[in-house]
Amino acid sequence: MQQAPSSTCATPGVGRRIVIAGGGYAGTTLAVNLGRKLKGVPDVEIMLIEPNPCQQALSELDLVAVGPARSEFCELWHPTVFKDLPVTVCYNRLDAVHSDEHVVTVGPRGEATDTVPYWRLAIATGAIAFVPPVPGLKEHAVTMWSVADAQELQRRGEVQFRAAVKLKEPAERTRALSFTVIGGGATGVEIVGTLAQLLPKRMRAFGLDPADLRVRLIEGRPDILFDLPKSLRERAKKRLARLGVELFTGSMVSRVEENGVHLEDGSVIDSAVLVFCGGAKADPDAVSWGLEADPGGRLVTSETCKSPAHDDIYIVGDVAAFRDPATNKTIPMLAQFAIREAEHTAENIVREVHGQAPTPFQPNMHGEFVSVGPSWGVGWMFGMNLSGLPAIIMKRLTYVLYWWQVGGVSLASKRLREMLSMHR
Ligand SMILES: Cc1cc2nc3c(=O)[nH]c(=O)nc-3n(C[C@H](O)[C@H](O)[C@H](O)COP(=O)(O)OP(=O)(O)OC[C@H]3O[C@@H](n4cnc5c(N)ncnc54)[C@H](O)[C@@H]3O)c2cc1C
Repeated sequence: MQQAPSSTCATPGVGRRIVIAGGGYAGTTLAVNLGRKLKGVPDVEIMLIEPNPCQQALSELDLVAVGPARSEFCELWHPTVFKDLPVTVCYNRLDAVHSDEHVVTVGPRGEATDTVPYWRLAIATGAIAFVPPVPGLKEHAVTMWSVADAQELQRRGEVQFRAAVKLKEPAERTRALSFTVIGGGATGVEIVGTLAQLLPKRMRAFGLDPADLRVRLIEGRPDILFDLPKSLRERAKKRLARLGVELFTGSMVSRVEENGVHLEDGSVIDSAVLVFCGGAKADPDAVSWGLEADPGGRLVTSETCKSPAHDDIYIVGDVAAFRDPATNKTIPMLAQFAIREAEHTAENIVREVHGQAPTPFQPNMHGEFVSVGPSWGVGWMFGMNLSGLPAIIMKRLTYVLYWWQVGGVSLASKRLREMLSMHR
């Protein structure tokens, strides 16, 4: 059913071609839903343009960054997902949108040669890690936005363990074993919690004493996890303290050097391994595609998730600036919104295939869970606060549910088995 994977996208069309650019949470969900709903419709073609052969499902990235999970735990391979669906995957990148001619060009930046006409285009190219212009930050910190970032953090940790084993002087050893995370949002808390809980075991394997480990979390605002209710923030902080994490809140970073983070109040924090989890910005290429963008570079959408001036272009996921009519705020960059926008957009495209008008998207946040170490979490769902084991179970089940939605029972049960083995 599926055509052989290729980096050439300029294949002859069969009629109405739906082009999806970006195969992350939004693009993959959209392609899967369209493939299932439009299977057998003769004059419709679905093409996914994505440079990587797999989706990186980032919400459990901390388990890869510190172990115990392997990178496959976060990788949803497109050939497996689309094997029984009428979706053509083109392993390349969207370079430009020519909305007047209803075509996109595809290929390396500045050298794109393939021209692909579309009947409907869905842009789902996501976001990238945002690194503010703090001196030394970009040079010395690892960001946390991909499996490659997670592997880099693992690598830097191992380098420090090998170096620390050779150090006789206790103060030098402690300095070599200092891990710092900047950013007390969900990603930073998840990374720091997993570092604090899992590194001691790894250190013992190197013959190191876990008492020499220093794990710190720096947050510029007065508190961590600002999106969660205060009672849950307090529980998360208690858990971090139990894991031995030193917390610096209300502390802006002014400068970073190879082995230390300078704060605006003049203090310096030893840091041999530094992770920056300070936020994200929309795919920077998207603003060059001639579509309306908000001041943050996210592409503006109408209530049906379309670009306001282009009836044949949908925008979904992190790259989209969808304004929730109930709150008049742009919805946050979260997988749960990316997935729901994509599901709704699939329904709307199917409606359009059958000559019906699209309907407005109504975003609803059903809950939010943050892990604080691999076996404990905080969060809420349907107005109910949870912490500890129930919260971490909900977080992990949400992840498995996503694999089930896009990959079916076999992929979901594989992930579930891996998760259970990690918690044994
Ligand atoms: C560490 C971490 C933990 C997170 N945890 C959670 C969580 O617990 N819950 C939650 O709801 N959200 C979480 N998020 C946020 C969530 O991952 C994002 O909101 C989600 O990935 C957005 O989906 P997307 O499809 O818009 O973008 P992405 O998933 O980033 O996918 C974008 C895709 O577009 C592709 N692409 C980029 N440029 C082009 C181009 N020019 N042409 C073609 N393809 C292109 C990329 O290769 C990528 O595959 C987390 C994020 C991180 C980094």
